[in-house]
Amino acid sequence: MGNNGERKMGLQKVIFLIFVFFISACQDKGQVDLKKMEKKYMSLREKMVLEQIERRGVKDKNVLEAMKKVPRHLFVPEEYLNEAYEDYPLPIGEGQTISQPYIVAKMTELLEVKKGEKVLEIGTGSGYQAAILAEIGAKVYTIEILPKLAEKAKKTLSNLGYENVTVLVGDGFKGYIQEAPYDKIIVTAAPEKIPEPLIEQLKIGGKLVIPVGKYDQELKLVSKREEGVVVESVLPVRFVPMVGEVEK
Ligand code: SAH
Repeated sequence: MGNNGERKMGLQKVIFLIFVFFISACQDKGQVDLKKMEKKYMSLREKMVLEQIERRGVKDKNVLEAMKKVPRHLFVPEEYLNEAYEDYPLPIGEGQTISQPYIVAKMTELLEVKKGEKVLEIGTGSGYQAAILAEIGAKVYTIEILPKLAEKAKKTLSNLGYENVTVLVGDGFKGYIQEAPYDKIIVTAAPEKIPEPLIEQLKIGGKLVIPVGKYDQELKLVSKREEGVVVESVLPVRFVPMVGEVEK
């Protein structure tokens, strides 16, 4: 091989090394950007918990910790990424919404969920409420009537490693008898009155939180006791309506 050939080989090596250097620099930069973004979202979550949730009186440490941990921005559509930690509900497609952070926290606190408890949720939506329950250590069964939303929520939850959540497609009006009775039940779509099967599928000593009403809705806390069922009104709320069998 002559001088020319050797020079050509040398040049190729240099180009190759520059290429490798460039690619690894890009990867490092990507990781730095990702870490920066994660830090940004973490501080937005802390601000959300302090200003929207603790200031309004939610005290349960487990709830506050879970709300600081679960990456809410991964449960909203990309076009709402910048609003993920704001003080209002957001559209998640199919005419449905992810609830306002304060309402998620308040409902979770009312349930007094403990580690290892079995919880049924009606209205999976984005899967965010289910993730909060799972983060506290509950075993969650969540039912969504719209298959597209159920599919998406299932993916989000499994990408984040929430193995103790089972997403089911169906009408939650009848509950989910296969796993009943439940320690706690949470409903995140509003029927005009409390579906009887949900009270039946609650353990004695169990609690149910549910928005009830058409336009003027009330959040109700239902406690099932030996002596009977006690229903308390907690606060006025605005949820999407429960659809399906309940409308008949
Ligand atoms: N918990 C959700 C938000 C709920 S939005 C979250 O964290 O994102 C209410 C959801 O209830 C909607 O997705 C709607 O499709 C669903 N829904 C309405 N009626 C239902 C029914 N009968 N059974 C199950 N899901 C129902």
